[in-house]
Amino acid sequence: MKAIWRVWTISTVSLSLLSLAHASPWESLSEPNRSSSESIGGYANGCLLGAEPLPLNGQGYQVLRSQNKRYYAHPDTIAFVTELGKKASNDLRTHLLIGDMSLPQGGRFSSGHSSHQTGLDIDIWFRLADTKLSLNSLRLPKPQSLVDMSAYKLSNKNWDRRHFQLVKMTAQDQQVARIFVHPVIKEKLCRSEGGDRDWLRKVRPWWGHNYHMHVRLNCPLDDASCVNQAPPPPGDGCGKEVASWHPKHNVKSLRPAQKPSEQVKPKVVKSTPKAKKVLPQQCQQIVRNLN
Ligand SMILES: [Zn+2]
Repeated sequence: MKAIWRVWTISTVSLSLLSLAHASPWESLSEPNRSSSESIGGYANGCLLGAEPLPLNGQGYQVLRSQNKRYYAHPDTIAFVTELGKKASNDLRTHLLIGDMSLPQGGRFSSGHSSHQTGLDIDIWFRLADTKLSLNSLRLPKPQSLVDMSAYKLSNKNWDRRHFQLVKMTAQDQQVARIFVHPVIKEKLCRSEGGDRDWLRKVRPWWGHNYHMHVRLNCPLDDASCVNQAPPPPGDGCGKEVASWHPKHNVKSLRPAQKPSEQVKPKVVKSTPKAKKVLPQQCQQIVRNLN
């Protein structure tokens, strides 16, 4: 009986591991499709036609964890990262470490964040690689947090003036819609800027972005099915707005009591079920062809 139980348990565990490995059908697509390039749908509910791979090693940047195949993007994004790498190399004398972008045909990752689906999101690590990383370090990179998480304070030993320059020059690019950083980093950027405050509007506080910034680009102009996010609220988002993220505002939890205006969701009446996201038709077609 015990032996049967063990076999049953082992096979159930391996089955569930298998299904975990394919938790998202998008992970099984190893190449971009041959259509012309187009971002379809929203950042967290879409896909990507005719993606391009970011070359793994370019001027001023390197791709992390390429084994995950998350280095594909819309060609506009590829051009953006390539240019940003050149600026990092020329102006900051360093190399950027590029984390997740999108899968070969976009869509949902099996783990991690729910956006990055349309080839327009890029994670860029705050760890500045003044000398390029070895292949082994690229496969299993060590993150460097700019925030002392237990004290909810900036990590002065890891903060570098170039972090300010990097976020500022990225935010000032017309293609950039938003940049997500940890609220403590946003506070530091707010304190470090003098009169030129427009770019700060695009830098939005969000949990989890202590060792990387998440850069989100606007929809490419010709991509009619691509859905932009509403623009950030007016103002630089400093002062009270970023302070409202401080855990002291809500002692019971680490989340802010009052979320900043752009996060507040309309109250849902209990009897109405939450509207299910419907994947755009063109993306559904890709998934259907897998079966
Ligand atoms: Zn991200």
